[in-house]
Formats: sequence, C-alpha cells, structure tokens
Amino acid sequence: MKILIADKISPKGVEFFRNQSGFEVVEAYNSSPAQILDLVKDVNAIIVRSETKITAEVLEAAPNLKVVGRAGVGVDNVDVEAATEKGVVVMNTPSGNTIATAELTFTHMLCGARPVPQAAASMKAGDWARKSLSGEELFKKKLGIIGMGRIGGEVAKRAQAFGMSVIAYDPYLVPSRAKAMEVESVGMDQLLAEADYITVHMPLTESTKYLIDEKAFDKMKEGVRIFNCARGGLIKESALIDALKNGKVAAAGLDVYEEEPLPAESELRQFDQVSLTPHLGASTKEAQESVGLEIAEAVTETLAGGVINNAVNMPSIDSQTLERIGPYLELGAKLGTFIQQISPTHIKKLHITYWGKVMDLDANSLTRSILKGFLQQISGESANFVNALVIFERLGIEVEVTKSSQQSDYSELVQIEAHSVEGGVSSISGTLIGTANNPRLVGMNGREVEANLNKGIVLVVENRDEPGVVGQIGTIIAKDKVNIATISMSRIEVGGVALTVVNLDSSLSEKVMQEIASQDAIERVLLVRL
Ligand code: NAD
Repeated sequence: MKILIADKISPKGVEFFRNQSGFEVVEAYNSSPAQILDLVKDVNAIIVRSETKITAEVLEAAPNLKVVGRAGVGVDNVDVEAATEKGVVVMNTPSGNTIATAELTFTHMLCGARPVPQAAASMKAGDWARKSLSGEELFKKKLGIIGMGRIGGEVAKRAQAFGMSVIAYDPYLVPSRAKAMEVESVGMDQLLAEADYITVHMPLTESTKYLIDEKAFDKMKEGVRIFNCARGGLIKESALIDALKNGKVAAAGLDVYEEEPLPAESELRQFDQVSLTPHLGASTKEAQESVGLEIAEAVTETLAGGVINNAVNMPSIDSQTLERIGPYLELGAKLGTFIQQISPTHIKKLHITYWGKVMDLDANSLTRSILKGFLQQISGESANFVNALVIFERLGIEVEVTKSSQQSDYSELVQIEAHSVEGGVSSISGTLIGTANNPRLVGMNGREVEANLNKGIVLVVENRDEPGVVGQIGTIIAKDKVNIATISMSRIEVGGVALTVVNLDSSLSEKVMQEIASQDAIERVLLVRL
C-alpha cells in the first residue's frame, strides 16, 4: 500500500502509517498541482489537511486510489462528488477539534471583555497605560450561543463556570438537551435582543450564510460583543464593520473570514477592539495529534478492508453491495434533506417507511443515508454515515423505521414523516424512476406531486386553488431570469389549498421570493436546495 501524505500531519500519525507492514509512506509537503498529479499515479491513499486540492483531475490521475483522508473537518479542498463517482472513500475527523475550538472561542471572549491584546501591545511599546485599558467582567453577563452542537456545548460549559447565564438558538436543540445543559433555548430574535455576548457555532451552508447581517445587528443590544470561530461568512463582514464603527458592537473576536487568508488591506484589521486570529481553531498540540492519529487509524482500517469510520461519502458496506444500493442511498439522502427543509424546526421524531423492493435492501444503510441527508444543512460536512445516528441521538430526535408489506402505488417507495414537538407532521415520499434510476419525489403532505430530486433547486408553494396562480408565479420567477425545468400541481379539493412544486435551474433572489409570498393566493413559499 502506498500512502501519500500531502499535507503535514502529526508525527504520531505518520509513525502509525510507517509501522504498518507493507505500507510505503511518501511525505511530500507543499507540492504544486502538477507535482501532485505525478505523485498520485500509484498511490492507494492520500492524506491532506486543507492545503492540497484533490480535484477531479487528481482523482483521474490516481487509478489505484481508494481513500482520501482529511485530517480535520472541512472537505472543501476535496471534490467529494467526483470521488464518490470513482468509488473513492473520503474520510474526515469531525470531533478532534472540538475542545481546541471551544477554548479559542473562550479566549476571544475574554479578550473581548478585557483588552489583553491591546495591553500586551502597549507594554511591548514601553507604555504603562493603566487608565485606558480597563475592561468588564464575564460574571453575570448573558451569553447567546447560536448553534449548540459539539463546540457550542463546550463553550456553554465554560461560560457557566465563569458565572454567565447561557441562552441558545439552535433549531434542532430539543428541550431535554437544553435542560440537561442548563441553557435556555430561545428564538433567534430573543437571543439577538438579550445577549451581551454572542458566539456562532454552526456550519456554513446556503441557509446560514450571512445569518448575522445588518438586520441582525439592528436587533442586538448597544455594546454587544460578538465572536466567530466557526466559519467565515456566518457573520457578514461589511455589516460587522458598520456596527463596530457606529458603536453598536463594543468588541469582536474572529478566527475565520469570508476570504482566507484575510486580505492585508481588510478594514477588520484596523479596529483595536477586534481580536483576530488566522484560523487557529484546531491549532493546538493535542488537536493536531488527535486528528493526525485519528485519520491514520481510520485510513489504515479502510485499506485493510475493515469498517469505514467517518466516511463523508460512503456507508460502511462492501463495494458490490454499494453498487447495488447506490441509487437508493442517493434517493434517501435527497429525501432526507428535502423533508428537513420543508419541516418546521424542533423535530422530535422521524418515521421512515419502506415499501416494495426497498424492503429487501440493507435498510440500515438506507436509513443512515436519509439521516445524513437530513443533517446536510444542520451539521454540514461533519455529518456522515457513521455518526448520523449519534448526532440524531444528541439532537434528541427519535428515528422509527417500518417495513410495510401493504400495497403501494409504486413498486418501491420510501416515505418519511417528520413529527415536530408542537405536534405538526410533514411528510414526503419518493421512488426511483426509469433505467437510469432517477430519484423522484412523488408525494408531499398527503398530496401526489412530481419533482426531480437529482440536483438543483425546488420551489414549493402552497396556494389557494384558483385560476392564474401558476401564471403569476411563472411571471415573477422570470424576473430573476431563472428557467423552470418542470412544474407539478396538486390539490385535494377544488378551491382548497393546492401544492405547486417547481424544479428550477438555479436559485431565486430574496426579492423574488418575497414577491411570490406577497401574492394574495399564496399561503406559503419556500426553496429546497438539493
Ligand atoms: P456540530 O455539527 O456539532 O454543531 C453544529 C450545530 O449547528 C448543530 O447543533 C446544528 O443543529 C446547528 N445549526 C445548524 N443550522 C443552524 C442554524 N441555522 N441556526 C442555528 N444553529 C444551527 O458542529 P461543531 O463541531 O460544533 O462545529 C461548529 C462549527 O465550527 C462548524 O462550522 C465547524 O466547521 C467549525 N469549526 C471551526 C474550527 C476552526 O478552526 N475555527 C475548528 C473546528 C470546527
């Protein structure tokens, strides 16, 4: 087995590889894209951090490649889709960075309370500026945590130890977990209005980009302090700069940026009250050791044909079975993300039912695929086939699976119901169509609909069943110059509420979405991203 370590990992990780009999280890750091193409010719595994890009071209140049291991979480530098097509497993280490990032967040919060970086700089400059360097205490302040996953949870514990009260906004935080963590679960607006300190800890997805924008800053307290050690782009930098200038934000701490490296001329560098670090969340000795060793162990196990742990793109099954059930896994993943995006938040249970041929398949993998799809917008790339169930447990969402022998209109059907804490239920069902096994949506909330689940954007509209509505929607969509690929309408009774589902070639602007929502006959409109 030939292993290419393309980005530096901990010596313990390298040593682990070297200690395996029959392993040849090549360490080639800072290689150019052309050198990488040459180096991968005969390798079985490539280990990267975030520097080396594993593009479709690199994958093409590596016929023996079985695994790409990312020591860390984000796999933005790996073309996961191309790897999946080639049957290459992409693995990451989603939990090794948690404590390191939680502690860095807390460091920034402390620097936001007490001007330690400014004091250190002034001491170095020979000053003794005691009067101008006073701060405030964290004790008895209210911390608002947006995103209560692994890191958010660890930040909460540390804040409580400092005597802060903690409120949290996370659409997937169930009351039992909030209670166990002694945090008050609140709505986003309440968090923004009440918190003295705000910190964000969720993935960057299309729905979380610019979550903290001008409007969000308007809702915050005067003199709020805000921190981002999660992903650049969760906080809109131009809005933060305005809020720092007009005094709304008293201090900020950032580890991640919209553009990395942060451009030298970035205005963010000019504020004394902003502590900046160059994406150091995972940069501790312990985290580096833990992710380096973790990825070496996981990749070795996979190459030996053992259980595949923390694969971003594969379930833990052998390649023959994978070929047979691949299209069903794709269907499951699409249905999973679809139901998550059309359901209200605070889901307490998913009920999955399999009919027909699907029943004969490995239901465990299919279920995991649905759960992974459901988590796509919630946990980003840190959710995978292996940890999806664990994340559901942590979120307190029960998963119930039924195999039904009753007749259905389709030779195979997967139905998912999402039950919310408040008692609402959303449902969707899907099947595979044609020789190409295309995933197709065939039912939503008790109505028959048809939409392609391959990829792209689906517009879902609930409207009063009356003439002219489809024309109105089409005219408004045209303002964004977006093409309609397919459209499907469904109603239960004449004049009742109809459901219109539209496959679009690209996304719609917020303005167009608002215009659709403001039409008299429209009751609800949303976009689903596949
Ligand atoms: P996690 O998956 O454990 O938690 C993410 C949480 O965000 C989940 O509880 C989810 O329900 C919540 N969430 C999803 N969408 C939300 C929304 N719209 N509003 C509020 N909450 C939402 O992830 P984690 O391990 O805690 O990591 C959190 C972030 O930190 C990720 O973006 C990760 O990439 C980043 N991270 C950064 C560094 C660094 O070097 N700075 C290191 C590690 C992780």
